[in-house]
Amino acid sequence: MSAQLLPIEPFDLVIFGGTGDLAVRKLLPAMYHRFVDGQIQPSSRIIGVAREGLDDAGYREQVRAAIEKGVAHVAKAQLEAFIAMIGYRSLDARKADGWDEFSALMAAQPTHIRVFYLSTSPDIFTDICQRLGSLGLNGERSRVVLEKPIGRDLQSANAINDAVAGYFTESQTYRIDHYLGKETVQNLLALRFGNALFEPLWNAQHIDHVQITVAETVGVGHRAGYYDRAGALRDMVQNHILQLLCMLAMEPPSSLAPDAVRDEKLKVLRSLRPIDASNAGQLTVRGQYRAGAAEGQSVPGYLDELGSDQSKTETFVALKAEIGNWRWAGVPFYLRTGKRLPNRVSEIVVTFRALPHSIFDPANGPLLPNRLTLRLQPDEGVKLWLTIKHPGPGGLRLRHVPLDMSFAAAFGIQQPDAYERLILDVVRGNPTLFMRRDEVEAAWNWAGPILQAWEGSGDTPKPYTAGTWGPSAAVALIERDGRTWAEDAA
Ligand code: NAP
Repeated sequence: MSAQLLPIEPFDLVIFGGTGDLAVRKLLPAMYHRFVDGQIQPSSRIIGVAREGLDDAGYREQVRAAIEKGVAHVAKAQLEAFIAMIGYRSLDARKADGWDEFSALMAAQPTHIRVFYLSTSPDIFTDICQRLGSLGLNGERSRVVLEKPIGRDLQSANAINDAVAGYFTESQTYRIDHYLGKETVQNLLALRFGNALFEPLWNAQHIDHVQITVAETVGVGHRAGYYDRAGALRDMVQNHILQLLCMLAMEPPSSLAPDAVRDEKLKVLRSLRPIDASNAGQLTVRGQYRAGAAEGQSVPGYLDELGSDQSKTETFVALKAEIGNWRWAGVPFYLRTGKRLPNRVSEIVVTFRALPHSIFDPANGPLLPNRLTLRLQPDEGVKLWLTIKHPGPGGLRLRHVPLDMSFAAAFGIQQPDAYERLILDVVRGNPTLFMRRDEVEAAWNWAGPILQAWEGSGDTPKPYTAGTWGPSAAVALIERDGRTWAEDAA
């Protein structure tokens, strides 16, 4: 079946923080790709907003440079047509000046869907929403997109959500988690619920354990200031990794209707066994990188990048989570993320239970458990590890090999970036892949006591050398259970 790319109705996308790193590196190139594929009608508008005193022409130059840098094979005519949709308004979210002119600009296209993408620090979400509300720009054809981080704990998340809710209803509010827009995550739904093969095995009787790894080779670099207030648990686990865990572990929803899926994810979050001061010492490991080598170069340690000689912020976390329900009781979910690790990789590895009995001679080779590897980046794809006979003569030699479905190779297509799908989903009004408020709250309800336990313990994160897989305690966390991290699996 060939791909069917349906144009979506004309819209105005207003990117608050339109000159920022996220907008320039991700959001604008994502829109360019959808435009080139004919999904965005030329009467749509993309309007950048920031304090910098640019005019339309100046911003268009920035956008042109960003597309030329970030997109391979740019066709000049298409780029010019895309640039013609771009505009800019210099506004300070905290000041009144310029908002009436902004309102007039919006009024020029009264029938367009309006997407207000808040790609700024959450400190100014309230100011922006309040101004949009007072200008009447929060009508039923308006949507607001909230970037992470949504709070640093339950209380601050509630404060942000309450403030936004003063002007936009829950159905107008799209809390973005770009991991949910990744092709592999969509494929997890297709694999689980589009095949008869997996679902009967998808439970504690047949699955030994699950690992989720989100590893980065980069350090904190110029984001050290932001990162030091967050840390790996807040930056990665509370949102992205828990969302992946939910997609993997949820019960089959009755349909793909947004709330049917989100109701099931919420149940998973609410079933996570608490980790608090009583068990955080056994179930969690925090690390912080020291100087070492990454991507073939010597790199400084975290404290050097931060320019401070003390910080208890974790740049690595490994933990053992459990879901207390009938399907998953007793199945460990080992979660791990960090900066300055050896490879940039995000993957989920589902390891099935070992065979109850072997009919083979040990000399035939090892019988390893089946494993399903879902890789989100790089090289999105799925591998199902099976035992087969090595072909040809030479006796019965068992081999553990992957049925390999690398999406790009298998389908000969360029993988779309997650933001391409997600922004168009906002325009379409489809919130399935966005976090509902109660999910954010449930995630903080689980993550908050871990953070409190760490703070209360007085311990500091364990050091690890940049370019290694975190502190040795992270290896011990899983090896204590007779298992190993699966970094060589895929
Ligand atoms: P950034 O590079 O610091 O950009 C911030 C943007 O906000 C700039 O365009 C800035 O322009 C604008 N801004 C700041 N204060 C403003 C004000 N008072 N009124 C209007 N505009 C204002 O940040 P970023 O990396 O793009 O990240 C934006 C948000 O997305 C952050 O919350 C970040 O945590 C989140 N995020 C970023 C990434 C990423 O890859 N970068 C990934 C996921 C989430 P002016 O200074 O000219 O006003």
